[in-house]
Amino acid sequence: MGGRRRADIVFTRWRVAVFVDGCFWHGCPLHATHPKRNSDYWLPKLQRNIDRDRETDEQLRSSGWIVVRCWEHEAPVEVAKRIEHLIRRLRT
Ligand SMILES: [Zn+2]
Repeated sequence: MGGRRRADIVFTRWRVAVFVDGCFWHGCPLHATHPKRNSDYWLPKLQRNIDRDRETDEQLRSSGWIVVRCWEHEAPVEVAKRIEHLIRRLRT
């Protein structure tokens, strides 16, 4: 966890890459906590994850992919709905 760059779900045909980001590792606005203990270690590390996410998004987008990011706290059924809508739109 934390260091991965690969999408969690890939729809090659539609060039859609889905990432399910862990709340802690990827700085979820609702659940990210800022560890007080060893914060000199954690804060830069977590910031690097977030920077890397943005970089990954940019790389994918510039090669024609659509990037969908969801949080691990989101209900899988909601996430699935969102992806379904998106793919339906791409098909038309
Ligand atoms: Zn969260």
